Amino acid sequence: MMTINVAIGVRYVHRNKVKRAFARREVIISAGGADSPKLLMLSGIGVREQLNKLGIKTRVDLPGVGQNYQDHVLLEGIHWTIHPNISSSVLSLIGPSALLRYQEKREGPMIVPPGIGASYFINVGDTDEPTVPDIQVLLASQLVGQDYGILTLGKFKQSVQDYYKPTLGRDGFSMSPVLLRPKSVGTVTLKSKNPFDPPVLDPNCLSHPDDVELLVKASKASVQLGNAKTFRRSLGAEPINKPFPDCAYLEYQSDDYWRCHIRGMAGVMAHISGTCKMAPDSDPMGVVTPRLKVRGVKNLRVIDSSVMPQIVSANINAAVIMIGERGADLVKEDHGKM
Ligand SMILES: Cc1cc2nc3c(=O)[nH]c(=O)nc-3n(C[C@H](O)[C@H](O)[C@H](O)COP(=O)(O)OP(=O)(O)OC[C@H]3O[C@@H](n4cnc5c(N)ncnc54)[C@H](O)[C@@H]3O)c2cc1C
Repeated sequence: MMTINVAIGVRYVHRNKVKRAFARREVIISAGGADSPKLLMLSGIGVREQLNKLGIKTRVDLPGVGQNYQDHVLLEGIHWTIHPNISSSVLSLIGPSALLRYQEKREGPMIVPPGIGASYFINVGDTDEPTVPDIQVLLASQLVGQDYGILTLGKFKQSVQDYYKPTLGRDGFSMSPVLLRPKSVGTVTLKSKNPFDPPVLDPNCLSHPDDVELLVKASKASVQLGNAKTFRRSLGAEPINKPFPDCAYLEYQSDDYWRCHIRGMAGVMAHISGTCKMAPDSDPMGVVTPRLKVRGVKNLRVIDSSVMPQIVSANINAAVIMIGERGADLVKEDHGKM
């Protein structure tokens, strides 16, 4: 006889006590790209072999749960200094003694991270769709070391700290290319069956060689953009032409140099998507249906960034809000006025 799985509620911990809440109509998981697959897996919905290894009873063998993890990849470290005293960054107003006091005592307002001053959408290599952007270039209106390295640099490895030395206490800007449609995909898996353990995120970024090659082109385009006469004339922009130490043996700004720089300085943007992807029944890796219902379980929906089959070609928050709105409409359609 076939078992029918029905979601009836949730178990949660409140003031150190395990409690339960039951749903009259359905359960909605909206825990984000990392935690929604985690909650499914803890509930026995996921890749059977993985769940078996952790001693979790499989209720639905859904091979797509936690797979297809997509994230935008951003390259740091293409930067220019500008004339002193014209920066729009709050850091240009704050001296090292105030920063040190903040670091020691966490006094005063929180320091804002490098502000995004502008965003350019360009196409550098996707010849199938030449009018669709494949790269976003983010202009940050301050330098990583503009805080004299007091708040930021300590968290980086030594070669990265050395790379940013020419930016210490200087005003400037950077151009960071972002891969909008990366071909590399990663995974979100469980560390254990303890719900308080964070999930294991492996973005697997730059594993597809096309991603690196596109970023090489994008790096050159970003250099060109920042070297535009307008920046030089109006801001006195001067490129900081110092190679990343781990790549200094390569001809500066050659393709091989960029490949090495990218391997050392690129990272994901925490735009975790795709880990419970929406797909038609014909796709075995689909986790939710086009109505965002989890396959193989009644009364269970996922509504968040994890349902994107493919990451959108821009910062994802607006699209995630749209998914939330659409999800709310689907719930109302299914259950009538609530
Ligand atoms: C540092 C940072 C900067 C970002 N900057 C931008 C940006 O500038 N522009 C942009 O477009 N996007 C940005 N993003 C991405 C954007 O914030 C996320 O993609 C978006 O918030 C995803 O929405 P979501 O609803 O899928 O998940 P989330 O916003 O992560 O919401 C999930 C919620 O579920 C809760 N939750 C998780 N597990 C459980 C549990 N077991 N029980 C109860 N609650 C739980 C979480 O606490 C959280 O409140 C940024 C992300 C980060 C981390």
